[in-house]
Amino acid sequence: MAGKILIVEDEAAIARFVELELRHEGYAVDKTEDGRSGLDQALAEAYDLILLDIMLPGLSGLEVLRRLRREKDTPVILLTARDTVMDKVSGLDMGADDYITKPFAIEELLARIRTALRKRPPKAPDALLTLGPITMDTARRQVRCGGQAVELTTREFDVLRLFLENPEIVLSRETFLSKVWGYDYVGETNVVDVYIRYLRSKLDAACGRSLIHTVRGVGYVLRED
Ligand code: CA
Repeated sequence: MAGKILIVEDEAAIARFVELELRHEGYAVDKTEDGRSGLDQALAEAYDLILLDIMLPGLSGLEVLRRLRREKDTPVILLTARDTVMDKVSGLDMGADDYITKPFAIEELLARIRTALRKRPPKAPDALLTLGPITMDTARRQVRCGGQAVELTTREFDVLRLFLENPEIVLSRETFLSKVWGYDYVGETNVVDVYIRYLRSKLDAACGRSLIHTVRGVGYVLRED
């Protein structure tokens, strides 16, 4: 996959055309049609790039950009029908990487997308998760505790990852089932207990102490006592 791109554009014909061209180039594409859902989507998902129309219903593109920049530095290319200096200047001031004026040739847009993606290679999100002596390298799928390597199965790794992404938060069995097993599990939730028992015994051995705690009637929590 070449990258994941969000299109925020209320003109359906343009959005559809750009989407098809991007998919053809191997990009994964999401679309939204107004400023507010565009902002929500941009904050909720990890995109490599956002194509952001300026004239949008709800929030304007510039307002979406301003709010996005408080939280994320996802590359943004502004799409503008208004070929005015003011919009470009304020857009770039607010942290847009580039802009393109409609109507544009698709080749030019694709070239600008490639440039924006090259300028800012996507960072691996949450590559290193830690809690106390535990370190998880999610890219290499390696876990260490106090410097000692811990060999985990895929499922155990995913259970530990959910713990590390939610440090000191009590997680229910249902949460593990939906996030790790990935479906609405019907029936016994014992499977979670079984995997947590495996994981706990491996971690306890490597760490020399217990970090996974049972909260009776609720679930489990990873924390340092
Ligand atoms: Ca528009």
